[in-house]
Amino acid sequence: MTRDLIVIAGPCAVENEEQVLKIAKKLKKLKVNYLRGGAFKPRTNSSDFQGLGEEGLKILFKAKKETGIKIVTEILDYNHLSLFEKYNVDVYQVGSRNMQNFELLKNLAERAGEKTILLKRGFANTKKEVLGAISYLKKYGHSGDIWFCERGIRTFANGEYDRFTLDVAIIADLSKEKRFDYKIIVDPSHAAGRKDLVENLAMAGVAAGADGIMVEVKNEEKDCPLCDASQAMNLEIFKKTLNKCKNIFNIR
Ligand code: PEP
Ligand code: MN
Repeated sequence: MTRDLIVIAGPCAVENEEQVLKIAKKLKKLKVNYLRGGAFKPRTNSSDFQGLGEEGLKILFKAKKETGIKIVTEILDYNHLSLFEKYNVDVYQVGSRNMQNFELLKNLAERAGEKTILLKRGFANTKKEVLGAISYLKKYGHSGDIWFCERGIRTFANGEYDRFTLDVAIIADLSKEKRFDYKIIVDPSHAAGRKDLVENLAMAGVAAGADGIMVEVKNEEKDCPLCDASQAMNLEIFKKTLNKCKNIFNIR
């Protein structure tokens, strides 16, 4: 049976139509099937860019209409579910900060139907808590796929050389865990926090057992994204990273 590496790429946040359409078209050329981009952003500071909200979902919808690429975007609040339905989001991302927002998980499970849920590990959550969060989605009736995403945890490394510590061991462990049915995605971008580490961490995640990668990208090296700028790699470099990850996936 042939299987494909799941590949999700795109900007941290949707900033404008031109940015997203350009990236979507280039990703399609690279045969990437999933475009990521936050319309609602969970920012640490209230003064930081919060995302374009509904306007951002409209832009993602347009990118999908023009290219056929599938859309992955974060849902912060279950009151936004009707907007996600209106703009036909394909994959509902539950961010790190909401992995244990049980009301959000229950509501998603009840309403997301066949949609895939991308559940990102909270940066202080254990394996037991990850499986607990997955159990909510299952118990409350989610029938679509579940993609668990390792994106780095907080450790005593504390930002000295990375942003979070990528826990490759949980990827190896969960790839052998049979209690629930899910796929594993590695997000090297939020773990690294620096574009020069992203490629190696992506490869490490795939080598450890990930079924897919999620990477933050930008159009040109000179672009300076409004959110998570230091970890965004340009699409030329991403192409090389993608090929290396596919090679590792295929020999695993
Ligand atoms: C993101 O994917 O843009 C994001 C906010 O990630 P996390 O929830 O892992 O911080
Ligand atoms: Mn980000």
